[in-house]
Amino acid sequence: MNLPEIHKFKSSQNIKRENKAKIIYLLSTKSNKFALLKNIVDMHRTHTCGELRIVDVDKEVTLSGWVQKVRNKGGMVWVDLRDRYGITQLIVEEGSTATEIIDAAKNLGREFVIKATGIVAERYAKNDKIPTGDIEIKPSRIEILNSSKTPPFTIEDETDGGEDIRMKYRYLDLRRNVIREKLQLRHSMMQHVRSFLSNEDFIEVETPVLIKSTPEGARDFVVPSRMNAGEFYALPQSPQTFKQLLMVSGFDRYFQIVKCFRDEDLRADRQPEFTQIDCEMSFVETEDIYNNFEGLVKYLFKNVKGITLNEVPRMTYANAMKYYGSDKPDTRFDMKFTELNSVAQNKGFNVFDSAELVVGINAKGCAEYTRKQLDGLTDFVRRPQVGAKGLVYVKCNSDGTFKSSVDKFYSQEDLKEWADKMEAVAGDLLLVLSGDTAHTQNALNELRLHMGAALGLRDKNNFAPLWVTDFPLLEWDEDTQRFHAMHHPFTSPKAEDMHKLDSKPGEVRANAYDLVINGVEIGGGSIRIHDREMQKLMFKHLGFTEKEAQDQFGFLMDAFEYGAPPHGGIAFGFDRLCALFGGSDSIRDYIAFPKNNSGRDVMIDSPSPISAEQLKELAININ
Ligand code: ASP
Repeated sequence: MNLPEIHKFKSSQNIKRENKAKIIYLLSTKSNKFALLKNIVDMHRTHTCGELRIVDVDKEVTLSGWVQKVRNKGGMVWVDLRDRYGITQLIVEEGSTATEIIDAAKNLGREFVIKATGIVAERYAKNDKIPTGDIEIKPSRIEILNSSKTPPFTIEDETDGGEDIRMKYRYLDLRRNVIREKLQLRHSMMQHVRSFLSNEDFIEVETPVLIKSTPEGARDFVVPSRMNAGEFYALPQSPQTFKQLLMVSGFDRYFQIVKCFRDEDLRADRQPEFTQIDCEMSFVETEDIYNNFEGLVKYLFKNVKGITLNEVPRMTYANAMKYYGSDKPDTRFDMKFTELNSVAQNKGFNVFDSAELVVGINAKGCAEYTRKQLDGLTDFVRRPQVGAKGLVYVKCNSDGTFKSSVDKFYSQEDLKEWADKMEAVAGDLLLVLSGDTAHTQNALNELRLHMGAALGLRDKNNFAPLWVTDFPLLEWDEDTQRFHAMHHPFTSPKAEDMHKLDSKPGEVRANAYDLVINGVEIGGGSIRIHDREMQKLMFKHLGFTEKEAQDQFGFLMDAFEYGAPPHGGIAFGFDRLCALFGGSDSIRDYIAFPKNNSGRDVMIDSPSPISAEQLKELAININ
């Protein structure tokens, strides 16, 4: 075929296709080079919208994407064409572009999907904010692949859409760079996790999603079984028992990037379904776990963020509570707690005298805080979420004197003793709380974090990981008036504390650990019980009858009788890890289709009622 024949042939093909696709515009100019266009026009795209550079000038290209913006300045129309990879500007000008194309460009609406073919040209006014900012395309064809209703919010980095509307149209929100980049980060993290663990001989094994409901831990989501009327599956809160069974099976090193489900009240960093990097290893002690998973965390920091982490420090749970009042201390900054009972009690100040704990922090350099600032701190600690009754302060003045809110009860010498104990110098501000130990530690932890933020000590680009070790095995639950497993019932007690199991169960420590980064619990795990008798004993201490233990966990205890190796593991909250890497407090943006605060997916409108027939089939009577 010679050139005109090719053109005729191509045109007839195009027209047929376009009729079918209800394409509105198909335009070509005399300048088209038919031989070249043979490929370019047929293709949806020769390049992405983020790809073209100055070296591509004069090339004929085809791009497809979404219209982000049309600027119409009379004789000139600019179109920003967007896809996942970037934005490329199209320009049509009176004089050099055919009028049909100018009209076509003017009529494009936001979020129309178009295909544009044209020549790459160097821009007069370059835009150094985008990688394609040196060039623009002079289209010779613009084809509308699909039109769009005006989107309910602007699809740009800074959007005018509120949270609710963006959740309802999540598929549009996901078009925004800022959200898409978060999911790309998640993807990259996932690939690196798989590559690291796989290289370390971990095998990814999928465990079932329809399992058995057990009362331990959080509330289960349950699924009715049609074939077993009146019976229910539960969705896994974690694959805990399955990964232990895989150790019994000899898998030795297991991991899974896995969805877990917990029917809990939601907070900013909680979702009813979330993802864990779940891991288990055989023939290991806590030390092996620290080494292996420190390796994973370092690998992720290095490969995803380009950050080299030092060795991860360790702190016992007891010290974390003593010095930070929290089992997940933010160690990006110091401001440790100092107990003041010995120097603050028995001086006539009843509030302190009657308290179980008097404890303070030293806010370095804050002695100049104004009355208003101090009142602000008092209001902060009195908020119900913090729960302190009041706040005592001591200003360490530059002249060596002290000014406190309790001057009536304490002499300058007394206050000097406090200051010495807290290693305070002139210019520092001491903030002191008192009351029962648990509440006071918790309130001072909140105040410490608040002060850390106020003083700019919690930089999100600074990462302070920490192993918190030796968690208590059991914790007393006021509501049920019994002990619960602090981690879970499969966690092994420390051998040296076993003798206290009957006499002082609350003092028994477990081989359990958390990985904390910047005050966020990123992972947690334990060395497990692998012996039937020991597991039975644990259930007994947790208030299970022998029958209850056998009914619920008999399968695991039975398995322990067939050569269960010593084993242990850990699970990381993958969504949280992604949010931490992305510098965000909320995990929601790192999940493609998250639920809102009421556990609803407002896009698909779920949960939703089911039909009477479905209920009947499932033998569920909801009246
Ligand atoms: N299954 C535990 C959890 O989800 C983690 C572990 O012990 O490995 O918290």
